[in-house]
Amino acid sequence: MHEIRFNPLIKQWIIVAKHRAVRPWRPEERQISFQCPFCPGAPELKHLEKWDVAVLPNRYPALTPNPPQVELEEFMWYTKREAWGVAEVIVETPSHEGDLFDLSLDHAVKVVETYKSEVERLSRLDFVEYVAVFRNKGKEIGVSLTHPHSQIYALPFIPPRVKQELDSFREYREKIGSCLLCDVAKYELKYGKRLIYYNEEFLLLIPFYAMWPYEIHIYPLKHVKSLRDFTDHQTKGLADSLRVVTAIYNKLLERDAPYIMVFHDHPARGNYEYHFHVEFYQPYRDREKLKYAAGIEWGYWVFTYDGIPEEKALELREACRKAVSSLSNAMGRCME
Ligand code: UDP
Ligand code: ZN
Ligand code: ZN
Ligand code: FE
Repeated sequence: MHEIRFNPLIKQWIIVAKHRAVRPWRPEERQISFQCPFCPGAPELKHLEKWDVAVLPNRYPALTPNPPQVELEEFMWYTKREAWGVAEVIVETPSHEGDLFDLSLDHAVKVVETYKSEVERLSRLDFVEYVAVFRNKGKEIGVSLTHPHSQIYALPFIPPRVKQELDSFREYREKIGSCLLCDVAKYELKYGKRLIYYNEEFLLLIPFYAMWPYEIHIYPLKHVKSLRDFTDHQTKGLADSLRVVTAIYNKLLERDAPYIMVFHDHPARGNYEYHFHVEFYQPYRDREKLKYAAGIEWGYWVFTYDGIPEEKALELREACRKAVSSLSNAMGRCME
């Protein structure tokens, strides 16, 4: 059973992939003898001589370029489609432990260059509408394998969250005549209280509209729609930003911190009004307590924020100072 089903009540696709149920589940924790599939020497990496960053097909793919045919449902309002797409794992380093901030700046640049070239390549496939780059970190988030990696899903539809953003960018352009995120970045620079860090290309801030306690967004200072349009200097600036955000979380919690990282990029095709950005959701609301998405959040999509983003910004700045002093060659500065 492998297909995508449409929920006609909330108008969203669900990826149904039975074979994913058997993927390895935290073998290290369960003390099962297990060869890490992302460590050098693993069968799928054998063909590579020497590598810093490797792209692997996901062995339990949620989507595939050769999906089985689906049988139509009798009830005409039930829609399903073939699970067209691609699922990949980006193994960020041969080393079995660590986080993005443990990589040298040059190595982190190679990671971002890999994201970029995969987004370019996958966007050209005719069944792909959107390429989602994301990184899950930590057992609180539900990560199944700890070796540093991120994932790419090339989707046969534009995800609803991005659709909503595209709508807002279009509406803003029609009403105001400029780019929504260019104006947000300009305002945040002037207002100042939510800023955390900046380099020549990017602004790191806790958004006015934060949903997660220590949410951090990375906004390009120059207008750019897609990772595909990045200059080398922007690529380097993003690599620097990713190291800084992940180091901030680790300093904030004073331990290996969980988080979700998502790239919000322009769809694979078409020409929409958009401004590329990266969002980080960190699930703790203080050092010990997790913020759960439960009834009001999951059942209604209404978020409550236990605190004030402008106050959390002060904590994030303090963590930023510690983070930047611990990193070799950070390109930018924390806000005072
Ligand atoms: N995986 C793989 N090859 C393997 C074992 C696992 O490609 O030999 C994939 C697995 O399907 C999963 C990913 O590696 O999608 C690990 O991802 P993560 O733990 O970040 O999250 P998950 O996708 O499991 O929720
Ligand atoms: Zn490993
Ligand atoms: Zn813009
Ligand atoms: Fe976004």
